[in-house]
Amino acid sequence: MSTNTKFIYPRILLKISGEALQGANKFGIDINVLKKIAKEIKLVLNLGVQVGLVIGSGNLFRGATLSKMGINRIASDHIGILSTMINSLAMHDIMNEYSIRSYVLSAISMSGICENYTYQRAVKLLCNNYVVIFAAGIGNPLFTTDSAACLRGIETRSNIILKGTKVDGVYSKDPTKYDNAIFYKKLTYRDVLRKELKVMDLCAFSLARDHNLPIRVFNINKSNSLYRIVTGCDEGTIITT
Ligand code: UDP
Repeated sequence: MSTNTKFIYPRILLKISGEALQGANKFGIDINVLKKIAKEIKLVLNLGVQVGLVIGSGNLFRGATLSKMGINRIASDHIGILSTMINSLAMHDIMNEYSIRSYVLSAISMSGICENYTYQRAVKLLCNNYVVIFAAGIGNPLFTTDSAACLRGIETRSNIILKGTKVDGVYSKDPTKYDNAIFYKKLTYRDVLRKELKVMDLCAFSLARDHNLPIRVFNINKSNSLYRIVTGCDEGTIITT
């Protein structure tokens, strides 16, 4: 179903951090958060926007944290990768509940659970208005799901990376810790590097910059924020050339 409302991005790559899924909890998945995100995605699907989705796993396990506890870094990252799969499967199931057609494609072989990722398959599904959930990051340790978001965004020719966070956009410093943090509405790739702003890790950021893929950082917890972005409202922080 599509309405007459105009959208400015025909295809988006939405990146949601794992932490966003845990809601007020310290660990795990808050089903109500998944439901809220599904509803937000449905709003933009109804406009006719195609949606790719990458979910992190900070709500479960992150490689860097596990390795500090004494698990080998590569094994730690494998655990992180598998955790993104858990989040993706949960999101997929909630989307089914909301009659959203979605598909999980994994960067590593998960025989019996979901299909392997290929960009051809992903693009075909996106063109058929399925939400494609890209699970298992890029499938290799020492990377992050931000890199996966940028990589899949470029591969599927998405128009923008939308990074959903718990704050309103990019600030000069952590706004949850510092009252005097400055909020930026608009930045260039160069500004981000010069000011050493924490938008995403350097590897992911360089990929986006080198391929001229705009990034918008926004608050995923704000109702209708995704809808406002795809219909052209100035929500969050936009980063471009
Ligand atoms: N990870 C990885 N390779 C990838 C993607 C993720 O090794 O391509 C692992 C890594 O350990 C990372 C964890 O999965 O810490 C979760 O990803 P991320 O830290 O990006 O999650 P987020 O911060 O977005 O919740």
